[in-house]
Amino acid sequence: MQNTKIKTTCSYCGVGCGIIVTNDAKNGVMVTGDKDHPVNKGMLCSKGMNLHYVVNDTSDRILYPEMRGSKSYPLERVSWETALNRAAAVFTSIIKKHGPDSVGFYISGQCLTEEYYLVNKLVKGFLKTNNIDTNSRLCMSSAVVGYKKTFGEDSVPIAYDDIELADTFLITGANPAWCHPILFRRIEKHKEKNPKVKIIVIDPRRTDTAAFADLHLQIMPGSDIILYHAIAKRIIEKGYVDHDFVKNNAENFKQYKDLVLGTSYEKASKICGISVPDIKLAADTIGKAKGFISLWAMGLNQSAVGVDKNTALLNLSLLTGQIGKPGSGPFSLTGQPNAMGGREVGGMATLLAAHKDIANPEHRKEVADFWGVDALSDKPGLTATEMFEALESGKMKAVWIICTNPLVSLPDSRRIEKALQNAKFVVVQDISHNADTTKYADLLLPAAGWLEKEGTMTNSERRISYLPKGINPPGEALSDIEILIRFAKKMNFNGFDYNSAEEIYKEHCALTKNTNIDISFLNYHRLKTEGTFQWPVPDYGHPGTPRLFTDKKFYTPTKKAIFNLPEHIENTSEQPSPEFPFILTTGRVRDQWHTMTKTGKVSRLLTHTPNPFLEINPIDAFKNEIKEGDIITVTSKNGEVRVKAKITDSIKEKVVFLPMHWGKQLENDLNRTNNLTNTVVDPVSKEPDFKYTTVSISKY
Ligand code: SF4
Repeated sequence: MQNTKIKTTCSYCGVGCGIIVTNDAKNGVMVTGDKDHPVNKGMLCSKGMNLHYVVNDTSDRILYPEMRGSKSYPLERVSWETALNRAAAVFTSIIKKHGPDSVGFYISGQCLTEEYYLVNKLVKGFLKTNNIDTNSRLCMSSAVVGYKKTFGEDSVPIAYDDIELADTFLITGANPAWCHPILFRRIEKHKEKNPKVKIIVIDPRRTDTAAFADLHLQIMPGSDIILYHAIAKRIIEKGYVDHDFVKNNAENFKQYKDLVLGTSYEKASKICGISVPDIKLAADTIGKAKGFISLWAMGLNQSAVGVDKNTALLNLSLLTGQIGKPGSGPFSLTGQPNAMGGREVGGMATLLAAHKDIANPEHRKEVADFWGVDALSDKPGLTATEMFEALESGKMKAVWIICTNPLVSLPDSRRIEKALQNAKFVVVQDISHNADTTKYADLLLPAAGWLEKEGTMTNSERRISYLPKGINPPGEALSDIEILIRFAKKMNFNGFDYNSAEEIYKEHCALTKNTNIDISFLNYHRLKTEGTFQWPVPDYGHPGTPRLFTDKKFYTPTKKAIFNLPEHIENTSEQPSPEFPFILTTGRVRDQWHTMTKTGKVSRLLTHTPNPFLEINPIDAFKNEIKEGDIITVTSKNGEVRVKAKITDSIKEKVVFLPMHWGKQLENDLNRTNNLTNTVVDPVSKEPDFKYTTVSISKY
């Protein structure tokens, strides 16, 4: 890097902290928090403040393209020309023989918006298949559907600055103290300054977030909906409903009211494992709030009833009229840095760019005309898990994987392994050999990483940041957009004559014109000179939009928000049985990120939690004669994991917890959590049910 100071954004979680990058003494880079950044005001968490180690250590990097002649041959170094000629030849031949839906792309919430946009245009517009999905499917697709059903659009209504204006927080199915630390730090500071601020946490584990709460409702996994209904019943009975809002700005209240008033507190208490007084206390706290914010993440989304959980929670904001005003609103937390940007450009198999829908013929025509192509396919693409099922069954022949490690992160890892073995052609485009999936590549393409390319990202609060290029990528690695443009040209597709990321961004912004996410008046110049913007930015000189729905007008046809009733009140996952009596729930540890390909190589990040572990309640440990540190075999119908026991009353009885990060790093794969997880998905969002797998445990 030249001797300069660069302002950029952290590449880990969806909080989107501002970072300043400067040179270190050894010609590497160092990072500090950006004091002027509106999100973090100079703070960084352990992952963010160690980002420079990841950049400076290039020992694991993929440096040049590698290819194997056939499945039994080893990967060998080839030129970019040879690599992309082969990719184009194989994709052309497979599509000719088996049709466009025989190929697919699996991408990532870590891709920059320009990359996301370009690969969607390539696949949906030119390869003529909607088989492109992202690992954000594992993260927030239930929240997307929940917002669309409630507000008529996938729109996060509030901003981080609402935190300091709220007096009541309901944090449910999330552990922001570890997973969104800087956001949580803002909540902590707010409460320190204002001790009357109330925090309610719903979680089967007493996490650091729960330990900070005024009220921890230690829920049985999967029982969230009946709990929200019991809370709603109490809010109605005690007269806390915002009748003005409900009458003028919402639909379907009567049906919702009839449903929740039929909830039995005692039944809810029994199913959820929470006392009736605690349920009522939570409801009264929410009902009396002047500014109520709900925050949630994977505990709601990664569920067989993820969409229903989302809408049931959103209903609480509608019931109390806590939306569109300072310090209030529902706030889904994105796990990845650019999950939101991916949503903007339609980075999923069921969406089109600019929040348009594949199912809508007018939307398909608008996008096809804009891209200058014939009609787009109206067939919904295969989602993340469906794509790998199709590879396993042979229905799909080739997959191109960008910046994600499905072998460790998707449910039922052994099935993913079989799918990759069975695929005719696997392209892996990544930065690191540490990604376990690279071993299954027929073609391995070296990509540029954070700081080695330019583009934009959008964080959890719709805030768009520009990320400049600061250093050159190592070896022959190229930016993802350069790789995709070269491939498109090899395929003889017109419409990929871009000279910069900025040109792609301009095109994306133009496509959003007159939509609810209009950023047609945003550009690189404004982002570079004025800083970050929250969408929409629909006018010349517009400052961005921190808070949505301030006029109480929603994006539904009637402009009213909708109280949705759930398809299922109780969880539909396979229930515990004598063979598999425990519920396994999975999640993150504080200092690791996803499958550890980056954080796993920073030794100081490994000190917090060096090894995987199984959390088990002392009563269950006693009954099963398990002691602290014993090696435990955890078994589900899909596979096995062997880890040390950590006995703690912070986990509920009959529930066990495994962190999701570890992959096939030992001689065998017995520390890989997703060996166990079930393959059930929410029927609408298709998000996997990671938080509920039935297992047995025994001493090894
Ligand atoms: Fe990065 Fe998230 Fe930590 Fe901020 S909170 S420094 S965005 S990992």
